[in-house]
Order: sequence, then C-alpha cells, then structure tokens
Amino acid sequence: MEPFEYWNGQLHAEGVALSEIARCVGTPCYVYSRAAIEAAWRDVDAAFGARDHLVCFAVKANSNLAVLGMLARLGSGFDIVSGGELERVLRAGGDPGRVVFSGVGKTADEMRRALQLGIHCFNVESLPELEQLDRVAGAVGIRAPVSVRVNPDVDARTHPYIATGLKESKFGVAMSEALEAYRVAAASSHLRVVGVDCHIGSQLTETAPFVDAAKRIMGLVGNLASNGIELRHIDLGGGLGIRYRDEAPPSRAEYVSALMRAVDDAGGGRLRILVEPGRAIVGNAGVLLSRVQYLKHGESRNFAVVDAAMNDLIRPALYSAWHEVVPVSPRTTEARIYDVVGPVCETGDFLARERALRLEAGDLIALRSAGAYGSSMSSGYNTRPRCPEVVVDGARFHITRRRETLDELLSLETVLPDR
Ligand SMILES: *Cc1c(COP(=O)(O)O)cnc(C)c1O
Repeated sequence: MEPFEYWNGQLHAEGVALSEIARCVGTPCYVYSRAAIEAAWRDVDAAFGARDHLVCFAVKANSNLAVLGMLARLGSGFDIVSGGELERVLRAGGDPGRVVFSGVGKTADEMRRALQLGIHCFNVESLPELEQLDRVAGAVGIRAPVSVRVNPDVDARTHPYIATGLKESKFGVAMSEALEAYRVAAASSHLRVVGVDCHIGSQLTETAPFVDAAKRIMGLVGNLASNGIELRHIDLGGGLGIRYRDEAPPSRAEYVSALMRAVDDAGGGRLRILVEPGRAIVGNAGVLLSRVQYLKHGESRNFAVVDAAMNDLIRPALYSAWHEVVPVSPRTTEARIYDVVGPVCETGDFLARERALRLEAGDLIALRSAGAYGSSMSSGYNTRPRCPEVVVDGARFHITRRRETLDELLSLETVLPDR
C-alpha cells in the first residue's frame, strides 16, 4: 500500500488531497496516514506468528497522542524514555503493563511513578541506576522488574549520532560488567530480574548487526543461566531502517525472522522476544507539508525559501538526513536546482540541498518520510509556534495537534517587575 500518491495531478494522503489539508489547517503541517502506521505495526507483529513476543513502539519517534492511541488499540507495547512519555502512553489509552522504560538518566520520581503504574520492565543502563532503582523500589514497597541494557559492542554501520551499541557509547552496561550488574540485581529483594536488552542504533539497513547483537546477548543469557539467573525475555531494541532515498533495508518480516532465528538457534526458544521499533512503524507514514514563500535565483545557487524550517524538521541539519521533496501539484515548467531552506537564522537551516524542482512562489511541497523524529524533535526556536499534526483516515482527516499560538508559546514567560 502506498499512503501518499498522485490522483488527478494532486498528491493525496490516502483519500484526501494535501492541498485540502493545507487550505484547512495551514502550513507547515505534518500529515500521517493511519492505514500506513497500522499496517506497519501489524507487519512486525504478524511476522512473529505464534511465537511469544511483544512489539513496543518507541514513543520518541512519534509521540502524538493519536498515533499512540491507534497503536494502543492494536495491543502495542511502548518503549519510553521519560516520565512525560509514560503520561502520554496513559492518556492515549496504552497499557502500562506493556511499557518498557529505557534511558540513561531516569530520575527517582520517574521510577516511583512507573513502579506504581506497574510497568513491564525497567531497562537499566548502569550500576548506579540499578542502586537507585533498588532504593526507590524498597521505599515504595513494589518489586521492580528489571532488565540490564547491555552494550554488545557491535558496529551498526549507521550515522555516528544514531549508533548506540559501540563500547564508547554512553548507553548500556559493557558486556564485561553485565554479569556483575545481574548479580547485584538478583541479590536484591526489591528487584526482580526479568530480562536483558540492547539497542544498537537507528536507521540500520542490514540484518547482520542485529543478528550479531542477538548472538552476543544470547551468550550472556547462557552465562547468566549457569550462574543461576534465569531470564524471561530478551529485548532486541529498535533500529530497523527505512527507505528515505535509495536505501534497501530488510523488510519488517525479514528483520523479525532474522531475530527469531538468532535467538531460537542459540537456545532461546523459551524466551519472549521484545522489539522496540520506532522509525520502521511511522517514518514512511508521514510527510511535512510546506509552502514556498520565495524563490531566490542566484548566480551560483537557487534557493526555495519555504515556511517550514529546522525547528519543524531538524533531521537534515542534525544528521545531514535526506528527505525527498515532491510538489503537491506538479508543474511542467523547466526544472531548476534548488536548496530548500527555511526562514530560521542559521546556515544549517536547510531541509534539502540541490534538488531539481519545478516551482513557483506559493506552491505546496511535501517532505517525504517525515513521520519519525519530525514533529517529536521539533521546537519553538526563532519563536516559531510548533506546527500542527493531522492524521488521515481514508477519506477523512483529523487534526490531532492544533497549531500552537504565539500566546501559548509565550505563556510561561514573564518580564522582570519594576525595581
Ligand atoms: C530510539 C530508541 C528506539 C527506537 O529506534 P528506531 O530506530 O526508531 O527504531 C528503541 N529503543 C531505544 C532504547 C531507543 O533509544
């Protein structure tokens, strides 16, 4: 299924013309396809077949309540990295019993709340964090389910900012220190060891690093078993890549089969497998809709100045990410080479570089594959209100986050009183 297609010379999201959404909601604006998000989640879930598993959507990829709510209705679990994300999951109708809590800096307050709600598991990333969780769980009087995030030291061969599984990364506990962490956890009466986890990076386009990581983690699982520590689950994190340009990542089904084979061949048939996909569920299910403000035709470069900017979509500036730019109503005039830039006062404020486009001022464009790490990473930089989010469902659309107003953006601030 292709969620974004041209019909009668107009780019549509499912059954709705993007020009219609722009007319009603304005630009810039994120637009997601409900069918594409649900199909992607079901794809991952169904690939496990009858095998014991849990798909925990990584909330940080797209934390819009409507998106979380859709996935909650399908029975999704959630991978969270903050207390704020936990509240989002609850408000969206998600089951706290299917939440795993990752992240290197969980606070005591966040731990307490998650314990009281009865989350599935804390993915603990260091010994000091384990000790803090032990204290908090003791004080609350609820035994904390824990999994140690282990750093398998595999090279995910992705952008250095999104590779997280190397020895030098801030994430997780080194393989060599994992046994000690498990001994501490197993000895505590406030902690219950339930699993092991890893997350080696994002936008991976091969199965090999996932399989390597799974094998190394299974080695640890065996080692733990011979030390009398039995686990119930293995969480292999997220990281499956999508096609932005010409990448050829494995399909969701191929990815899941590779993981199952790696775990089961290493004797892990009794372990439940958890995965934490984010990008692979929502990335290709969204676009950022924007309008061309001005065309600047220069001697050495042409710029299309659009009304979306790095505060709306930071991936190009942050990771040199490539998003396809397509016109909403294609023209037949001659193409020129443009840098597509926003109005923010930073040279890094570009959305795309050197693209052949047929444009006029006032035209609508769509930046494709913007469903993951788009809106969720957006900010109010340059005092630009955060843009709305729309979910298309067949022939209808819903505004699932309205445009922030300037009053709202400024509402938390005050000037100093007179002296
Ligand atoms: C970001 C993150 C994910 C999701 O990564 P994707 O590349 O979007 O699939 C999963 N688990 C953890 C711990 C993360 O930090």
